[in-house]
Amino acid sequence: MSGWDEKEGVDLLWARVRGRLRTEVGAAAFKSWLKPLTLREVRGGTVRLTVATRFMRDWVAAHYGDRLRELWRDEDNSVRAIEISVDPALVNAATRPDDELEPSRSSRSRVSTPSDSFDHNISAPLDPRLTFENFVVGKPNEMAHAASQRVADAQTVPFNPLFLYGGVGLGKTHLMHAIAHRIRQNKPGKRVIYLSAEKFMYRFIRAMRYKDTMAFKEQFRSVDLLMIDDIQFFSGKDSTQEEFFHTFNALIDENRQVVISADKPPFDLERMEERLRSRLGWGVVADIHPTTYELRLSILESKADQLEAAVPSKVLEFLAHKIASNVRELEGALNRIVAHSDLVGREISLENTQELLHDLLRASDRHVTIEEIQKRVAEHYAIRLSDMHSARRARAVARPRQVAMYLSKQLTTRSLPEIGRKFGGRDHTTVMHAVKRIEQLRATDAGFAEDIDLLRRMLES
Ligand code: ADP
Ligand code: MG
Repeated sequence: MSGWDEKEGVDLLWARVRGRLRTEVGAAAFKSWLKPLTLREVRGGTVRLTVATRFMRDWVAAHYGDRLRELWRDEDNSVRAIEISVDPALVNAATRPDDELEPSRSSRSRVSTPSDSFDHNISAPLDPRLTFENFVVGKPNEMAHAASQRVADAQTVPFNPLFLYGGVGLGKTHLMHAIAHRIRQNKPGKRVIYLSAEKFMYRFIRAMRYKDTMAFKEQFRSVDLLMIDDIQFFSGKDSTQEEFFHTFNALIDENRQVVISADKPPFDLERMEERLRSRLGWGVVADIHPTTYELRLSILESKADQLEAAVPSKVLEFLAHKIASNVRELEGALNRIVAHSDLVGREISLENTQELLHDLLRASDRHVTIEEIQKRVAEHYAIRLSDMHSARRARAVARPRQVAMYLSKQLTTRSLPEIGRKFGGRDHTTVMHAVKRIEQLRATDAGFAEDIDLLRRMLES
């Protein structure tokens, strides 16, 4: 075979090895793991391959190393070992979709840049309204807002991760979308993924079903900014947590930005593994506090402006006063009265607002407070209200106190530390213990369960 030098011969062997591997492992796994391998040389019985990242190297060595060696030996029995090393210069090649085994595709995609080929589709769609420009800053959210802006505008990762937490409807998702918008606008080459924890889990489980978890992992590990929303939904789902933990560590190790949101601070994520909880708190943990009247009013003014609706300030003040629970409800109420006035062609007034929203307003009046719960429970068990805060440990007071903690967790949106504080400055672990204990008792003692349900119904009505 004249005209074949040694290099061409080796390349041909390599092509055959890859072809066989591809048949064995399937196109998806091949594309994710084996195609990115580059052959450097074959010398002294050692085949030297390179890949772009340490993670890829470890994974390929662990899962395909032996098979690679066997297949090479079939082609060339002087081969003794396979050596895989990291060549960061390959990082672009690793994410480029062109494939020399598919000539028609490669000619098409050769012009693509790494960011072109990045699958933005794994990110959830962004709501165009949720921008920094539309976010009203006030005392309760200024820290979370500042930290988010920092992440969006920084040239290098300022802190990692950014952990945003706060109750429902206080702007966590808004801030995350705002970060993504800002980065996509100012740094279009950056790979940004925003996903709810539920979506993340769904994708992970689907990848497991199709035995494609490695492609899944690599996809997440190649991003510049990963945002996972509402991570409290991970609680208890072990394999997803585990997977997330690895992805999370890999990203942080490679200095990629991670932003997480939850309804509680990291240490309070009850069913989350300890090492994950602690790692989540390593960067900046920014708390979005419940809104103040001032903030609610500013938000209403800004939204009314956006809707180009003439809403009397009396009405805005009324809403800001009455709907204190969260911004989403506040927005919903404003939308409702504006839509109604458009529809019936009547100006917005305090009277028709009250009429229109009476169901909503009644519901928000019904919110139970921890103080009410303590009072009701103390009455029910005929103990002193002060025993809710006292250090007494006698069963006769300790059990009702646990019941009150349990109901506070069930019926209010307060976090465990907040509840602990209201019970004489107890630790959040005490509250957690109380919740578990009452759950146990409920499960084993029908009479007790009935008692608790009765209390609960009284408090809710
Ligand atoms: P969370 O994710 O914390 O539950 P969201 O980010 O979904 O809350 O916010 C709920 C709604 O309230 C969204 O429509 C959002 O735009 C709005 N919102 C929350 N905080 C603000 C704010 N500070 N300024 C303007 N809109 C806000
Ligand atoms: Mg949200």
